Amino acid sequence: MTDHISHDILIIGTGLAGLRAAISAAMTNHKLDIGVISKVQVMRSHSVSAEGGTAAVLFSDEGDNIESHIYDTIRGSDFLCDQDVAEKLAHEIPNEIYQLDKWGMPWSRRDDGRIDQRKFGGYSFPRATYAQDKVGFYEMQTLYDTCLKYENIHFYNEWFCTSILDDGNNNFSGVTAIEMKSGNFNVFNSNSGIIATGGAGRLYSFSTYAYSSTPDGLDMGYRAGLALKDMEFVQFHPTGILPSGILITEGARGEGGYLINNLGERFMKSYAPEKLELAPRDVVSRSMIKEIDNGRGFIHETGVPCLKLDLTHLGEERIKEKLAGIREIGIKFSGVDIISEPIEIRPVCHYMMGGVHTNIDGQTEMNGLWTAGEAACNSLHGANRLGANSTSECLVWGSITGRLAAQHADKRKEKGSALTNLENKVQTEEKRIFDGIFRGRGEVNPYDIRKEFTDMMDIKAYIFRDENKLVEGLKKVRELRDLAWKHVDDSAKEYNTNFINVMEIDSLLRVGEIIIAGALNRRESRGAHSRTDYPNRDDVHFLKHTLAYFKEGGGPQFSWHPVTLTRYVPAERKY
Ligand SMILES: Cc1cc2nc3c(=O)[nH]c(=O)nc-3n(C[C@H](O)[C@H](O)[C@H](O)COP(=O)(O)OP(=O)(O)OC[C@H]3O[C@@H](n4cnc5c(N)ncnc54)[C@H](O)[C@@H]3O)c2cc1C
Repeated sequence: MTDHISHDILIIGTGLAGLRAAISAAMTNHKLDIGVISKVQVMRSHSVSAEGGTAAVLFSDEGDNIESHIYDTIRGSDFLCDQDVAEKLAHEIPNEIYQLDKWGMPWSRRDDGRIDQRKFGGYSFPRATYAQDKVGFYEMQTLYDTCLKYENIHFYNEWFCTSILDDGNNNFSGVTAIEMKSGNFNVFNSNSGIIATGGAGRLYSFSTYAYSSTPDGLDMGYRAGLALKDMEFVQFHPTGILPSGILITEGARGEGGYLINNLGERFMKSYAPEKLELAPRDVVSRSMIKEIDNGRGFIHETGVPCLKLDLTHLGEERIKEKLAGIREIGIKFSGVDIISEPIEIRPVCHYMMGGVHTNIDGQTEMNGLWTAGEAACNSLHGANRLGANSTSECLVWGSITGRLAAQHADKRKEKGSALTNLENKVQTEEKRIFDGIFRGRGEVNPYDIRKEFTDMMDIKAYIFRDENKLVEGLKKVRELRDLAWKHVDDSAKEYNTNFINVMEIDSLLRVGEIIIAGALNRRESRGAHSRTDYPNRDDVHFLKHTLAYFKEGGGPQFSWHPVTLTRYVPAERKY
């Protein structure tokens, strides 16, 4: 039985991007009603775990400047970012920082009362605006509190979206979703939509992400005919603790932490003599693997090679004031108190540079549909994101897309556009889910498939890649996908998390294939994508974005898209 719910605007996702978009839409037009859907409770969205900071130029009077934020972002991206997008971010993010301040954000402050900033990798100036080491939690709380002040924002928590609907003429017309509490299948109708479903780090086993960070939104867009862009670029953060992969923020190195090898050396001096531990993440992570491969690593008790992060010289008082959260993480999940001893770490999957292809305003290839936050690829980060630029992106493009979605919804309302009859599409979708997945039967346990797949990604699509590994990875992902594995043991209707997990695994496998196939196509090394068989950046052939389109019954269909260059000539990166 299908129920219908209507809103003027639909936002899928209640992370930083989704909440910021909801406020922006509500402020643009208080007469529009806005539905915000999330598969988890708002404050369990992955954004709460952001630790280190949000990048913005706040101290022009002390030497920082917008031009430097733009160029650091472009250089960090290994020149694959769209330069007009980097310009937009750098110009608009300072206002967002002050806006959050007005809404009650408890930014950490200097003794003179001004908002404080710390150093972060790849920046020429301390530019990460922070709140201790819990920036995401406080930003989320501030935005959620603000959302609750608007009567026209309605939350649907623990609703799982399954597909995007269009009217047959490439106009967004809604989504399908399952209310987890009742198990009911619903259609949400709307004239404007924003995908803000976040990143997909659970494509890898060793990952800093929440378990809910699966590529549902990317897959929904892909199945609806939208391109996924630059998916081969996956960021590996240098400091994931063992064995869980939980993150130690870059803010720890920003506060002065050292990376050391088994000789006790700060090995980054050999790889990035100027920036040392604060080189961009792709540079640091590659250097760490080289140290390990050259026999200068440690071996964790689980047998995994690693290096160490040493914070002991910062002293107890500073650690307790600025890095209390990661100290607690170290004690609870690694058995190490960072005040008194170095902690074992290893590069860990941390961010997807790719996502749903959009223009500079977050507009997708479907009318009336925008994307913001980590699910989007507006090409801000290119081949490598700088730390602290993602929460910035969520705020800036949450704000932009919320405003544009509201203006669009308003226009369509004036025109009196009728809601389209979607029955055929809904029936197809119901069939895919209920006959294909819920009632599907297979021999193989889907959780075994998931583990085999994500363990494979850790090996075949990690920091250093080559043709052999990628071909083997592609073969494996296709084998796993072809197994008759769609197998839900739990037949309960209410709160069937087994069913939801199987839906997530379905999207993991489809998007995993795009990452590996895209990495195989890009025969160069750029940013986070390092091919040992093509070790150099090749601007002649690959200064372009990858687009992947869904092809029924086959693998992804690839094409290329130009990079927008404004004033900055691609150059060799030296740190
Ligand atoms: C541990 C960690 C620390 C980080 N620290 C920083 C930092 O200090 N600075 C920085 O700039 N960046 C940081 N990042 C990156 C940054 O946190 C994320 O990129 C950003 O928070 C993503 O926000 P988002 O709004 O796009 O998505 P998310 O916060 O991931 O939210 C996604 C939303 O989509 C919903 N959703 C997903 N699928 C469905 C579905 N099928 N149906 C319904 N709802 C769905 C989820 O319920 C959720 O509400 C960090 C990342 C990690 C992993």
